[in-house]
Amino acid sequence: MSAALPTTRPPAEGSARTACPCGGDALGPSAYPTAREAERFALRPCLRCGRLVLDPQPDDAALAAAYDSAYYGIGARKFLQPIEAGLDRFRGGRARRLDALVPRAAGRTRRVLDIGCGDGGFLAAMAARGWECHGSERSPLTAQRAARRTGLAIETGTLAADAFAPGSLDAVSLWHVLEHLRDPDRMLRDCARWLAPGGVLMLAVPNVASWQARAFSGHWFHLDPPFHLFHFDPRSLARTLFDAGFDVGAVNHFSLQYNPYGVLQSLLNALGFPRDQLYDALKGNHSVWATPARLAQALVAALALPAAVAWSLLEAAASAGGTIDVRAHRR
Ligand SMILES: [Zn+2]
Repeated sequence: MSAALPTTRPPAEGSARTACPCGGDALGPSAYPTAREAERFALRPCLRCGRLVLDPQPDDAALAAAYDSAYYGIGARKFLQPIEAGLDRFRGGRARRLDALVPRAAGRTRRVLDIGCGDGGFLAAMAARGWECHGSERSPLTAQRAARRTGLAIETGTLAADAFAPGSLDAVSLWHVLEHLRDPDRMLRDCARWLAPGGVLMLAVPNVASWQARAFSGHWFHLDPPFHLFHFDPRSLARTLFDAGFDVGAVNHFSLQYNPYGVLQSLLNALGFPRDQLYDALKGNHSVWATPARLAQALVAALALPAAVAWSLLEAAASAGGTIDVRAHRR
């Protein structure tokens, strides 16, 4: 037997076309079908950090076209008014939790940045608790909504690396934003630099290792191509956060706001209704009552709601929640 020579296995076809922003230079074979989008996108695991990478990554023009007015909802808000009122309760709860995490200090105002601040509901709740608030939004339309609501100057587009002085923030929120970013690792490193030592990062993402992701596969609501450029599970997220300078504290697997709806919309998608049509209706983009098929979706969703809540509780108990939120601290 001849001595083994060091060899370099050639990458599988197509495996190295898209590098991962973690610095990994190789992607494994497609791990996840994306159903309707399967012919256009694959999700490949980064062999270094373990996240799934949408491959190919849409270019800037394709993303700009995708983030159209239908994505953000028409008119003055993203979702129909009764839904926005309900969402504000969740945003208020998040503000209350963050407020409790960062102690007040005499003579000093606590500072928070909400990246991807949407309509500004969370920032409004933080301002009401006495925080100095900063926000950014990809979309000028949504930034205007947030500015109207909060009276703040909302940054539009990607924040510059020197947008905040080092150590000048007490908290940063990235609520269902990280998976949308072209370079989430760079954004996290910037956040770590802007935060004071011990500063809090509140972050939520879909969990690609959840029960609902595994059960519904390509029909899973939170896959959301081409908007979600990356998919994390608790392990790859923890690694990504650690590499950026954070220590992960609590990981929560239950979200009443996100997880039961993930089951419901995934179920509708799997039943063959047009993908995410009910979700679009909730944004007011078309009437849910407009056709018998749309009415049927609303009825199925209403009937399945108790089961979806039960599912979400069970998957959370098994540490496999459809979305996860993480509290991390800057080292
Ligand atoms: Zn990676």
